[in-house]
Amino acid sequence: MKRIPHFIGGSAADSTADKVLAVMNPATGEQTASVPVATPEEIESAVSAARNAFPAWSETTPIKRARIMFRFRELLEANQETLARLITSEHGKVLSDAMGEVTRGLEVVEYVTGIPHILTGLASENVGTGVDSYGLRYPLGVCAGISPFNFPAMVPMWMFPVAIACGNTFILKPSEKTPSAALYIAELLAQAGLPAGVFNVVHGDKSCVDQLLDHPDVKAVSFVGSTPVAEYIYARASGNGKRVQALGGAKNHMVIMPGADIDEAADALMGAAYGSAGERCMAVSVAVAVGDQVADTLVAALKSRIKDLKIGPGIQADADMGPLISRQHRDKVTSYVGIGQSEGADLVVDGRSGFGDETQSGYFLGPSLFDGVSDGMRILNEEIFGPVLGIVRRSSLDEALDLINAHEYGNGAVIYTPDGEEARRFTREVAAGMVGVNVPIPVPVAYHSFGGWKRSLFGDHHMHGAEGVRFYTRLKTISTRWPKSRSAASQYAMPTLE
Ligand code: NAD
Repeated sequence: MKRIPHFIGGSAADSTADKVLAVMNPATGEQTASVPVATPEEIESAVSAARNAFPAWSETTPIKRARIMFRFRELLEANQETLARLITSEHGKVLSDAMGEVTRGLEVVEYVTGIPHILTGLASENVGTGVDSYGLRYPLGVCAGISPFNFPAMVPMWMFPVAIACGNTFILKPSEKTPSAALYIAELLAQAGLPAGVFNVVHGDKSCVDQLLDHPDVKAVSFVGSTPVAEYIYARASGNGKRVQALGGAKNHMVIMPGADIDEAADALMGAAYGSAGERCMAVSVAVAVGDQVADTLVAALKSRIKDLKIGPGIQADADMGPLISRQHRDKVTSYVGIGQSEGADLVVDGRSGFGDETQSGYFLGPSLFDGVSDGMRILNEEIFGPVLGIVRRSSLDEALDLINAHEYGNGAVIYTPDGEEARRFTREVAAGMVGVNVPIPVPVAYHSFGGWKRSLFGDHHMHGAEGVRFYTRLKTISTRWPKSRSAASQYAMPTLE
């Protein structure tokens, strides 16, 4: 059985750990590899590799760092399909989706190839007589990233390209369920000429993460995953004086207004709700139909489309939706379908049967659709993270906004409407970090920033774009004066420059 190594100090490093975890192919239910839970010594060795690499890397000129990122970008593009196949084999998502994930990550790499320009600071001349002032951003040191199973390439690429381009060194702890992409990326970075120790990968679980959160040499922690873990990471790492951005779970709503083109909204909802089997933090899991006529038409449109949705292994060319990540997660999502029924929602399409061979060993589950989802139901409030979509009926935009804004999460929110005034009101009043108007999954591009509000993000900075650069750098403001002759005598009042 293949045992996945760490990547420390510029090369793959076999682990000596006794504790290993199984890596599964969710489409077959077979174990494909095992992944070690790093020993404390292995974590320590990754931290010291990153710490030792930092002085030279932070002194490397931004244009040289950019050139390495440019070569990495070229290698990523040339090997995109290999990476996408690795993702599909461990995550289960369909290949086209995995290819799209790599593209979105690659775009962050493209963004940071402009790092010399991005890092240009503010400068002011004559802030006082003969005094000039300028601000510079400095890297922090060793940064750690902890990533979830659902985007094994894209989410790490929200983090490390920005961190590294800014002059930091990095340790990635990928999800133990989908660990191979990180290793492949590390090899491409080494091929691109990244010096040893600048990017390291360690595998493991909570114990390894805790060691990174407590390590005095780790200066910043980026996390993406579920809300309870995000909250924990934020509290522990920031309590240790580190900079932290911890992105958590989501429950994203799409409002469909009476004037909207229902066919277009239904097409958009199919991808947003069932794409990647609903295992996306920007998946839409609640559709808020304004008016019964909208709701009735929407339910009928979705029902007919769901019939045509093809479920199968992600590598199958015509599959629209692959399996869920694990048997345990499939059982959890399946249980939510039962919970919705017992709560009194109307189960219009039951994904638990009729969508292929239910005896197969992969973790497949068909798409479910509920109508009549109402306040207080668990299927309305909790993140299911699977192919389950609920329709909530409301009679006005006000009521739709109240519903969304009362939710504990605030990752993404979308409105489908042809009316500019409705759209403008929605974008201004909705309490979410990423908002779409007639755009079903409004994931910001690399040069904007990704992040939610409320309990979808703990910390002050979103990821990538300008916010990412701010997160991975600290500001120094310098005031200079070059007097030809001695200045006036000592002054004891607060200096003012005039
Ligand atoms: P998870 O929280 O279980 O795990 C995420 C990472 O944290 C993994 O690397 C895991 O090993 C580690 N981890 C797990 N438990 C830990 C603990 N107690 N202490 C320290 N580390 C721990 O999340 P997941 O199941 O891998 O991913 C799915 C979740 O991620 C969903 O809730 C989804 O909404 C969320 N997510 C959010 C975003 C976003 O941008 N907000 C993006 C993708 C996924």
